[in-house]
Amino acid sequence: MSQAQEQFLSILSRDEAMARFDAALFPRQLRHETLKLHETLGRAVAHDIVAPIDVPPFDRANVDGFCLRAADATSASEVTPVRLRLTGEIISCGVEPKLRVTQGAATSIATGGPLPRGADAVVMIEQTQPVGDEAIELRRPATPGQFISYAGSDMARGETLVRAGTLISAREIGMLAACGIAALDVIAPPRVAILSTGDELVQPGAALGPAQIYDTNGPMIAAAVAENGGVPSFLGAIPDEETALEAAMSKALDGADMLLLSGGTSKGAGDVTYRIIARLGAPGVIAHGVALKPGKPLCLAVCNGKPVVILPGFPTSAMFTFHDMIAPVLRRMAGLPARAESRIEARLPVQVSSELGRTEFVMAALVDGPDGLLAYPTGKGSGAVTSFSQADGFFKIDALADHAPAGGQFEVKLFSPNLRLPDLTIIGSHCTGLDLVTGPLMASGRQVRVIAVGSLGGLAAAKRGECDLAPIHLFDDKSESYNQPFLSEGLELIPGWRRMQGIVYRRDDARFTGLDAPAAVAMALRDETCLMVNRNQGAGTRILLDRLLNGARPDGYWNQPKSHNAVAAAVAQGRADWGMTIEPVAKAYGLGFLPFAEEHYDLALVTSRKDKPAVRAFLELLRSDAIKIALNEAGFRPA
Ligand code: AMP
Ligand code: MG
Repeated sequence: MSQAQEQFLSILSRDEAMARFDAALFPRQLRHETLKLHETLGRAVAHDIVAPIDVPPFDRANVDGFCLRAADATSASEVTPVRLRLTGEIISCGVEPKLRVTQGAATSIATGGPLPRGADAVVMIEQTQPVGDEAIELRRPATPGQFISYAGSDMARGETLVRAGTLISAREIGMLAACGIAALDVIAPPRVAILSTGDELVQPGAALGPAQIYDTNGPMIAAAVAENGGVPSFLGAIPDEETALEAAMSKALDGADMLLLSGGTSKGAGDVTYRIIARLGAPGVIAHGVALKPGKPLCLAVCNGKPVVILPGFPTSAMFTFHDMIAPVLRRMAGLPARAESRIEARLPVQVSSELGRTEFVMAALVDGPDGLLAYPTGKGSGAVTSFSQADGFFKIDALADHAPAGGQFEVKLFSPNLRLPDLTIIGSHCTGLDLVTGPLMASGRQVRVIAVGSLGGLAAAKRGECDLAPIHLFDDKSESYNQPFLSEGLELIPGWRRMQGIVYRRDDARFTGLDAPAAVAMALRDETCLMVNRNQGAGTRILLDRLLNGARPDGYWNQPKSHNAVAAAVAQGRADWGMTIEPVAKAYGLGFLPFAEEHYDLALVTSRKDKPAVRAFLELLRSDAIKIALNEAGFRPA
């Protein structure tokens, strides 16, 4: 069978893959361990726990007062008080009584004191009158059993106190302590070994070399394992080399109850993990390829009873599939109940296209719209970490649909049951200057959400009334002005700041020395080895560039990334020799900068939302001296 056929034949639906994985793993014997009572918090109890003693262990007084025989006090009243002689004994807590209470007698007793022989009721001290040191007088009758807690009335010996599977909280610890239980059997948390795979991975803390990326999945999955009752053991990143990987995998599995890998599932030349699994133990691979997006390359296996999972390499795919398919299995192995599910209805503001034949899950951030909640897709693709990290939850597009329509109503499954909607919603172009304004706002306790969709996306959201502010930097060719011409009724322009645009080059590139921006571009056009990096159509920067180029299309013209940062990275890393970006970004990348024109970064304010407290607070901050100073220092010029 060819590789293409093999892959095609093995694709399962999400539910089918899950059902097969479950069937191969459950029911199973969960590992137990004995822990000291105080160590059991949050753990699942292994067996039913039966009270070994009565609580309280003896009959005891509930109030401070006197214990007596109720029959002696039946006739007591205001007109016919009853006088009882004191035995002289004083029963405090922890003191075993010595004297019997006989007819006509009473003994002083404290709350919690054990009842002596003969006594069958307690009267409160407040309802008695002392008669010298030797006697008391009662003016109310007493009933048998009054103010007594009988042995076993709280918990009776032999009673089941905590059922197997219960999660231990302070309440259970209280009951168990009262029974004198010092240690108990709980479900041992599954030990989960985690390995990342890929030649390109570097651990955070080490320097990033050319073409390398930081290992995102390792630390993220380890944390997600701990969040779901497992004990993670992250073993680092292994290169895509079969022998090394096989050794690492088999060693990792030896000391663990579960093995989670990420990457290496796409059946490419360097992807070998799934072949190793077959050799790790039976039955091996259960599902390789699931008709699910994000997460198609997921591989589920069971080796000698232990789950072995290869999560997709892309961080959002890895986290989503972990959340959707692995966390439930891990929780069952840890004896924890399924995660509390919380769903909420929301409207999708923009159309999302979807591949036919695969169930697609769209990560979304929730914001307050003009008529109810809106689910804003956070997707920058499953390769992005933020698609998952900045989402509140996700909704599903059926395998048989090729898109989700704008305006459609969807049920959003929340990642956490405690949803907090933002006080201020900003949708549009992101700028590091914006963080200088939202930072203090968040420090003052307001929840701010910034959804970066670019100027045009933000403007459209503002026109639909879906955000409070839309940061934009749009240049109008005809009027040769920024932003204002793009506004429509219901929006007003709040001046933000100016960002100097200019030509960037590597400082050691002598060709640019001593030139201004137009001269630098003229030089670059003459020098055929001088490679440019352009910007995308529609970007304000692109309009400025086209002007400088005046119809020329030098080498690199078709390299058109969508952000200021991407231009700077291309020049800094030598994929291009020059491009146009803003000064703060040039500075951050250590590039030479030849100023050309100022770009206006302003905010379109939705007028109907102007009086929201968070909007007012934002605008006040924007106008404050402190923020103006901070913007200036960061290389922006407040408008
Ligand atoms: P693979 O399945 O190994 O082909 O990986 C698919 C994509 O995910 C590649 O772009 C990898 O660089 C990326 N990737 C794999 N593992 C990780 C990881 N641990 N952290 C971040 N990205 C990763
Ligand atoms: Mg890889």
